Amino acid sequence: MEESGPLKINYLRLSVTDRCNLRCVYCTYWRDWQKLPSGEILRYEELLRLTAIAAEAGIRKVRLTGGEPLLRRGLVNFIEKLKRLPGIDQVCLTTNGVLLKELAPALFGAGLRRLNVSLDTLKRERYRRITGSDRLPAVLAGLEKATSLGFNPLKINCVVLRGLNDDEILDIARLARDHPFQVRFIELMPTASRTWWQRHFLPMAEVRQRLAVLGSLEPSIREAAAGPARIFRAPGFRGELGFISPMSQHHCGVCNRLRLSSDGALRPCLLEEKELDLKGALRQGVSDALLGHLFQKVISLKLRKSAHPITGLKAIPCDLPMVSIGG
Ligand code: SAM
Repeated sequence: MEESGPLKINYLRLSVTDRCNLRCVYCTYWRDWQKLPSGEILRYEELLRLTAIAAEAGIRKVRLTGGEPLLRRGLVNFIEKLKRLPGIDQVCLTTNGVLLKELAPALFGAGLRRLNVSLDTLKRERYRRITGSDRLPAVLAGLEKATSLGFNPLKINCVVLRGLNDDEILDIARLARDHPFQVRFIELMPTASRTWWQRHFLPMAEVRQRLAVLGSLEPSIREAAAGPARIFRAPGFRGELGFISPMSQHHCGVCNRLRLSSDGALRPCLLEEKELDLKGALRQGVSDALLGHLFQKVISLKLRKSAHPITGLKAIPCDLPMVSIGG
């Protein structure tokens, strides 16, 4: 179990690309998305230098995300190098799983073990409607491959969408009965238009109610280490169930993460406009010490905040650039 005590900002989410091979309905940024010129995206050497500096500032865990991280060439080699950085204890990856079957063996060979796969439906036609792409079979094959290789933990992220996939909550939860997965249900955040969000938002309390038929859920002993997710085990399940409620129960008080966008902007919070342009500083040739100072500045900005701007639902920022910031 993790020690309790003052919050330590020790988790960095690195967006390695703004490109994605899906066009998910809630991630509407791609609609008027202008892909970044490749020169604007941080090179691997730059990412490694910044991560080493972040480790000096206290970062211990790095999650690779995007866009779709598996689209970026050279990722396996990058992961090998990241894993060797002093101070970095955990490297994890969040993927839509479309390219996972092909890449899983090399990722595993590079030492990656912790994998989150996004999956909002088990129905092929519905998957096509939600993501704009008929790739459900590829994702399921990727999951099977990753399971057989022994990725652990293997987490499934499911964004719950009223009227679009909420009739599958039980079926998706049962993936954790049949497999050693941690299936996590996530509340929809207002990345699309406000009316769209209001129509499809379903609070986690309702998800929990719909899962009551599974019997009583026992809190998992590892819950303290789970960050914003509340983790449970249902009777007879091989895996676990997790619930993440960024909207109905904001978790700013336990949020220990910073986000570095693919073009090098460091943010204290997904839902904040404030960011620091690390790429600009880096490419002007500033020292590691100054870059370290910039990390510390964003960390102290984060520690001063107690709640993000969506609390109270009045000032919901829509059209969040999730693809480029890294969800
Ligand atoms: N392409 C990778 C993937 O699909 O996992 C990584 C990037 S994606 C933006 C990261 C996660 O953010 C996914 O699990 C996705 O479902 C989630 N996400 C994106 N928009 C969201 C929203 N509006 N509300 C809640 N989760 C969202």
